[in-house]
Amino acid sequence: MIAVLGAGESGVGAALLAKQKGYEVFVSDFGTVKESFQKELTENGFEWEQGQHSEEKILSAEMLIKSPGIPETKLIAKARAKGIEVLSEIEFASRFSEGKIVAITGSNGKTTTASLIDHLLKGAGLDVVLAGNVGASFARCLANSDHDYWVLELSSFQLDDIRQFKPYIAILLNLSPDHLDRYDGKMENYVAAKMRITENQTQEDYFIYWDDDEWIKKNLEKVKANKLPLGQKTVTEGAYLENKQINININREQLTMTIHELALQGKHNCYNSMAGGIAAKLLGITNDVVRDCLSDFEKIEHRLEPVLKVYGVDYINDSKATNVNAVWYALDSMNKPVVWICGGVDKGNDYEGLLPLVKDKVKAIVCLGTDNSKLIRTFGGVVELIQDTASMEDAVKAAYRFAEKGDAVLLSPACASFDLFANYEDRGRQFKKQIRLL
Ligand code: ADP
Repeated sequence: MIAVLGAGESGVGAALLAKQKGYEVFVSDFGTVKESFQKELTENGFEWEQGQHSEEKILSAEMLIKSPGIPETKLIAKARAKGIEVLSEIEFASRFSEGKIVAITGSNGKTTTASLIDHLLKGAGLDVVLAGNVGASFARCLANSDHDYWVLELSSFQLDDIRQFKPYIAILLNLSPDHLDRYDGKMENYVAAKMRITENQTQEDYFIYWDDDEWIKKNLEKVKANKLPLGQKTVTEGAYLENKQINININREQLTMTIHELALQGKHNCYNSMAGGIAAKLLGITNDVVRDCLSDFEKIEHRLEPVLKVYGVDYINDSKATNVNAVWYALDSMNKPVVWICGGVDKGNDYEGLLPLVKDKVKAIVCLGTDNSKLIRTFGGVVELIQDTASMEDAVKAAYRFAEKGDAVLLSPACASFDLFANYEDRGRQFKKQIRLL
């Protein structure tokens, strides 16, 4: 019997795949299971529970599939001690796929880059499915059918319990302190989790990585795959950004595009486009197709998403920017005076690195959160116009009052959303709704 811990998208996906592969399955969730998943579990005839973990039953399983949201609990430690194999849903699913895997991780840019690569592969007419941390789980998609190519967005949690997972192309976009609570507060543990994306790769595989990162560099020695850097340094194999032009050099073939030709704007997105371009070239996609796809890719909601122009002011929704690093790139990409809406649940942010950009680009700050004291303390002395708000309606109205023709209003919160909103999508949608009401 396989026990699945956690009945969210990963857990339910894993249960469906396990059932299809002939296993008896027991699903257990310590919290409350979302209604749609309850229905699905019942309709598929699974034995399942919520609000508890029946320890005896779970510890009688031959294998335990752990959902990414679940930390290392006592029960899991007991299972390991008993010799029960503990796997992530990604590891379990990968054992049943013959397809080539392109796996993407990093602190920021995963969804953007994974979606872009999916677009590139589809543009080349390949049989590809995008799964993982974005949309449906890998296991669920695989239970429907296998495909020639899988583009998987992976969080560090999904990499925590892999064993043999071996992507053909692994991409590590960038690293900035995030989720350190799950890694004993230690950056090196978080980095190690991210680096696991390449641990089973061999010389036939490829590892695309952000070259500007000291943490990644420290870990490169161990990588067995072909290493392809991505950054600002000229390289003969890999990609770099130079003089407003991206250069992708793979297998002695070169592709160059000016940054204005790219659908995704901002320096961070140049890196994302280059990562996508390298992956596409490694898969033999022609320069023409890569060029077309990098320029006609449709922007994704909540990531530097242009919303509307109101009385000459651009409104931009970057609600997904839940950490300082993402905001850094958002502000860096602005070429107009910015009215910056920020705030929410601070995960221990260090705003120091933002100060030069804020001084240079931000004309007014609207704080949006239940407790804005830290933001006001940090930026009060830097930006003259600063306002405290606790609802999206007030925040947008305040931003509207501060902004003049030729300015941009940017929602890029640097914080999680759950003090005032259900999630970042809810925050972004409320922002757009309030703009339309102006
Ligand atoms: P993830 O899936 O890793 O959370 P997203 O693609 O959803 O990443 O983007 C999250 C936030 O990070 C957005 O605000 C986006 O503009 C910003 N971002 C995207 N790519 C990068 C990058 N390469 N480096 C830094 N920030 C990025």
